Amino acid sequence: LVALDRAHLVHPVASYRQHERNGVRVITSAKGATVFDAAGRPLIDGFAGLWCVNAGYGHESIVEAAARQMRELPYATAYFGLGSESAIRLAAELAERAPGDLNHVYFTLGGSDAVDTTVRLIRYYQTVRGKPEKDQFISIEQGYHGSSTVGAGLTAIPIFHAHFGAPFDWQHKIPSAYPYRNPVGTDDAAIIAASLQALKAKVEAVGGPERVAAFYAEPIQGSGGVIVPPRGWMKAMRDLCAALDILFVADEVITGFGRTGPLFASTEDDIVPDLMTVAKGLTSGYVPMGAVFLSDKVYDTIADGAGNAAVGHGTTYSAHPVSAAVGLEVLRLYEDGLLDNGRRAGARLMKGLNGLGDHPLVGEVRGRGMLAAVELVTDKAAKTPLPAAADTARRIFDRAWNQGLVIRAFGNGILGYAPPLCCTDEEIDAIVERTRLVLDETLD
Ligand code: PMP
Repeated sequence: LVALDRAHLVHPVASYRQHERNGVRVITSAKGATVFDAAGRPLIDGFAGLWCVNAGYGHESIVEAAARQMRELPYATAYFGLGSESAIRLAAELAERAPGDLNHVYFTLGGSDAVDTTVRLIRYYQTVRGKPEKDQFISIEQGYHGSSTVGAGLTAIPIFHAHFGAPFDWQHKIPSAYPYRNPVGTDDAAIIAASLQALKAKVEAVGGPERVAAFYAEPIQGSGGVIVPPRGWMKAMRDLCAALDILFVADEVITGFGRTGPLFASTEDDIVPDLMTVAKGLTSGYVPMGAVFLSDKVYDTIADGAGNAAVGHGTTYSAHPVSAAVGLEVLRLYEDGLLDNGRRAGARLMKGLNGLGDHPLVGEVRGRGMLAAVELVTDKAAKTPLPAAADTARRIFDRAWNQGLVIRAFGNGILGYAPPLCCTDEEIDAIVERTRLVLDETLD
């Protein structure tokens, strides 16, 4: 398999020869929060795949739901108005649980497609309401909004911009709230004030509110290093956008579906976004699917405008019935104890990781629920990041792997945690203990 992989399978991200140098690791099976390598060795998946297998692996009821749907109706095109029961029911169930008036659900293939969809629909929305000049988009440094052409431009991680001209001239960024490294210090109110000021200044710099279509924020910035803004930050930014007639998009691709505790982190932040994107936990990674939630205001405007100014946007697999059937079953699991277990396990994870705070390499432990990070530094007082050597992250990943733990090691010396919500206390404790061993080894 390793030889065939080298010869034929192109892996995403960064250098296409990287995995050849490092060697691919083949996972052959998995159950609960445990994955097994080709030799049958168990490892705890502390990252739920790529922040997605929230329900854990090997859930028979999910497999059954997919199989049943495949037998009954494996495909129906939403393209010319053919609905499937599973997609319709999932949309209705989600709308019922979504914050406020996010009552309309557009199903996509994943998160990047969801972000692209928001851009298409927002431009259309602004045109239909007679404001086509509102065509500028603002997102945040360290933000991640996908790897598609448009999404990669909203993403603010430089490697996603490399070699194709992103971000495009209508895509702008403001600094991240990043409490650990914010130039204004660590005071919540000061950080929020600085972000509000930065957004106002950026809006003015691109031509004023009459030019700005939308602002994108993750409740917690995931791929940028699990950066948790202060409580009240999302609400303050959301309110400013409302005051400036700028649509507020909450990108909940990672935070949605129990990752931080509730079904949607926006609820915790006490906001109703104008649009919200989800993916990952929607189907718990068993099959691909994402979604865009549209508020009544946005949906009613584009729906009314469709007769005289239709917009072509959609793909073959939009609202796929098998993905939707999986989504329905996963939603049932969340409400049948998985969210509760995730909350309990998340509190234990945060407590355990906080216990590593006195380790000489640990600059900061942060997170919410089952979404956490440990930021490593070489000098705690100066907050000096680990050397940005290309293989630093890989070495940490390898050490964790050897300890029987899969975690994400970001290039800047940040360890990321997003375990399945089904983790037992023992598994959470093992994640923390194995991390301690990795840190000790990294110190040597
Ligand atoms: N938005 C956010 C916040 C994400 O974390 C991701 C994926 N990590 C995406 C969008 C893109 O989702 P996908 O990889 O499913 O296309």
